[in-house]
Amino acid sequence: MANTHTQCPLCGGSKTLSSTTFTADLGFGVVVVRHVPAQVCDQCGEEWLDDTTSASLESLVNDARAKRSMVEVTEYTTSITQKAS
Ligand SMILES: [Zn+2]
Repeated sequence: MANTHTQCPLCGGSKTLSSTTFTADLGFGVVVVRHVPAQVCDQCGEEWLDDTTSASLESLVNDARAKRSMVEVTEYTTSITQKAS
């Protein structure tokens, strides 16, 4: 059940739980989400988001697109996760 696959498929480095800043370019504006939990490879820096996190970010991006925000900067919090589910 637990995901124990912690090896980077790209370079063979090890993935560790960290946080990253997610950005999305909407064309007319940008969305920036800080402190997003992610698995980050300690060698090549590649980042992986889990399904819940990805869904939450997608929801945030859709909200920003609907509002036509020029710049949307937010913090990733558990309340976002709850809203998306
Ligand atoms: Zn890697």
